[in-house]
Amino acid sequence: MAQQSLLDDTAAPLVSARPSLPKLRKAAVGCKACPLWKTGTQTVFGEGAAKAEVMFVGEQPGDVEDQTGKPFVGPAGKLFDRALEEAGIDRSAAYVTNAVKHFKWEARGKRRLHQKPNWSEIAACRPWLDAELSVVKPRVLTCLGATAAQALLGRQFRVTKQRGQPVESELAPVVIATVHPSAILRADDRDAEFAAFVDDLKTVARYLRR
Ligand code: SF4
Repeated sequence: MAQQSLLDDTAAPLVSARPSLPKLRKAAVGCKACPLWKTGTQTVFGEGAAKAEVMFVGEQPGDVEDQTGKPFVGPAGKLFDRALEEAGIDRSAAYVTNAVKHFKWEARGKRRLHQKPNWSEIAACRPWLDAELSVVKPRVLTCLGATAAQALLGRQFRVTKQRGQPVESELAPVVIATVHPSAILRADDRDAEFAAFVDDLKTVARYLRR
């Protein structure tokens, strides 16, 4: 009984026993496993090559992603694209997703301000991410920002200390964490932060070439 109520609080019952990306995407449209379906306009599922060698996982969709239904297409997504290009990684050959698939925000005047998802929301959404990992089976998994890194690598993980270095994990042969591109947009020294981000992505690119 306890096990069932645990499942009821997560997206697990919606995940097909034989998942494929189209099946998962379709099922996730109707997910109500946590309260974020009420605030987000739509589920923003991952996108990219079904057998991508590299998967990037961010925190959650932002305002533009919420409206378009696509991950990493807003200002942070554009910065991410530029950094990928500088690092020599082809985004069309990658898979890009988020730890949480609905936009969490609070109203500030006419603006919708990002709010960090809490642990129960992250846990509720985790079956989607696990299913994406099981289908794509990336050789290199890259966590973008503390929320994704701590969701996948444990709450003790510190991006500030461990960024850009491979981390032992059963999730993929190589797992690396770096900052979220939105943190660069907020940084005082954007140029330096952007360069450090590109350096971390170059490490990802080196593992992809091996
Ligand atoms: S955030 Fe995830 S678990 Fe919550 S309703 Fe959306 S898809 Fe479902």
